[in-house]
Amino acid sequence: MVHTPRTSPPPAELVTHGKRWTVRYESIASGSSTGDWATQSAKKVLAVALRGLAHGKCVYCESALGVTTYLEIEHYVAKTVTPALAFEWTNLLPACRLCNNPKSEQDHKGALLKPDAVDPEPYFWIHPDTGKLEPHPKLDAVQSRRANETIRICDLQRPALCTKRVEMLMRSAPSDRFAVGGAMRSSHGVQVRAAPRPRNPWSTPDSRNRPGAVHTRARMNEC
Ligand SMILES: [Zn+2]
Repeated sequence: MVHTPRTSPPPAELVTHGKRWTVRYESIASGSSTGDWATQSAKKVLAVALRGLAHGKCVYCESALGVTTYLEIEHYVAKTVTPALAFEWTNLLPACRLCNNPKSEQDHKGALLKPDAVDPEPYFWIHPDTGKLEPHPKLDAVQSRRANETIRICDLQRPALCTKRVEMLMRSAPSDRFAVGGAMRSSHGVQVRAAPRPRNPWSTPDSRNRPGAVHTRARMNEC
């Protein structure tokens, strides 16, 4: 995931027309009128603004938007759950179709990590052999549930993503590849921690935090 602090203001067109766009959508959502949730021009305004929010990547899986997948306008709180938030700038995020589709209109009730508000880095481990994400062992029960829900809601264990994560780990320096508790960072600073080797790493949780754990950086492109 990409931590995307929302430092930029909403686009001027959204400030000017957002209320009217919202009223239009609320009419559609209530069944009083028909049409797509947003006009093509409104979508274009939002897409351009959102593209820069996460450095051109999907906030959930870090796929390069426009290269391996198209940008979709993601509503953190689904627009069908709360139509009034359909054009709320802080509710909008850039995502790929493969994350947006499984999330769909689910009412996650805040369980999904919101990457502009929460740094996802401390929430996950990458298993070095399978590339699967797992909740970081230091999380409390509530945090662990949010990590698991984020994985489930956005289908972040997709085989292609897991393969890319393993490749990312393998691209790191050979001396780090088998590091115990080695810390990896994505290209945008989202840190994930490699689980310890050798195999069956989950049986020795204490070793993950041993002194002298190797820290390194690795790029995680186009997952
Ligand atoms: Zn994605």
